[in-house]
Amino acid sequence: MPAGEESSIFSRVHESDLLGGVDTATRLPFGVTRYYAGLAASDDPDSDPIAAQFIPRPAEQVVLPYESADPIGDTRWLVVERLIHHYPDRALLLVSDRCATYCRHCFRRHFTGNGGGRVSDAQMDAVCAYLSRTPAVREILLSGGDPLMLSDRDLDAILHRLHAVDQDYLIRLCTRLPVVLPARVTDSLARMLEGHRSVWAVIHANHPREITDDFRLAARRLLQAGVPVANQAVLLRGINDDADTLEALFRSLARAGVRPYYLFQGDLAAGTAHFRVPLEKGIALMRTLRSRLSGLALPTYAVDLPGGAGKVPVESSLIRTEADAYVLRAADGSEHRYPREGLPS
Ligand code: SF4
Repeated sequence: MPAGEESSIFSRVHESDLLGGVDTATRLPFGVTRYYAGLAASDDPDSDPIAAQFIPRPAEQVVLPYESADPIGDTRWLVVERLIHHYPDRALLLVSDRCATYCRHCFRRHFTGNGGGRVSDAQMDAVCAYLSRTPAVREILLSGGDPLMLSDRDLDAILHRLHAVDQDYLIRLCTRLPVVLPARVTDSLARMLEGHRSVWAVIHANHPREITDDFRLAARRLLQAGVPVANQAVLLRGINDDADTLEALFRSLARAGVRPYYLFQGDLAAGTAHFRVPLEKGIALMRTLRSRLSGLALPTYAVDLPGGAGKVPVESSLIRTEADAYVLRAADGSEHRYPREGLPS
């Protein structure tokens, strides 16, 4: 998207002075759509659950020793530029570093908004060559950044290239655009996606105030185009870490035809300790929600084990709690520690 076109759509603001002098690991651009900013009831990130997701706070400058710009170990599993192959049957393709709104809790700070831009044709050549010789991959996650920051034409071209490698690939569009800029889900985008087989949208809504009429229209367009929609929320301190808020979020998603899929424990991303919730609290919230919601509206509470050991369901993987860490079992049976932190008040 040309720079002029983008600035006419988004109220992108220069990198905030708040971030001046911050460790590069915590640097994440400031940017928000007018639509999403309009969902905030105030511009105080300490009291408004929408503002808290896009307005940087001084707490971002607090980087704990075990935090990093790559907390889930993307770079450990990078097989060619832009392609992360961690789990045998699926690979994650970083198609754009851009987002329409930069979430202050972003876990992919090593890539998001770093200026890398759109995946190039040469990078796609290498990606497709790798996939051609790796038939175990059955599913491709398009991520970044946000794949819907690409034009319909560029996204269509990427989907065609992937399906030329294997027409049976399941494609996951990992996008926050239906939440922060629902107007991006146009009829023409829906028609383009309808022309491809087996595309799912996995979106990222965290608060019931994000489930607006515009959002519901975007979800309906995707669903009518044969694109199932699932949601991955993040458990965020002061934003959605109470049962009433989560219940309202999951109920309104399910009513909009969007399956609540995961509720993620916050990753150990640099400068995000103020967002994280203790695992005990997450488990207690799930226990309450299980008594209130049917299985259709209840997501799995999961954590990405630090350093790239993989994603596990918290409740069934927690082995024990030690003084300074939770010990969880990964899918391969190995044990991993997730810090029990002294969270800033
Ligand atoms: S939309 Fe995803 S990649 Fe973009 S800032 Fe938010 S969490 Fe990070």
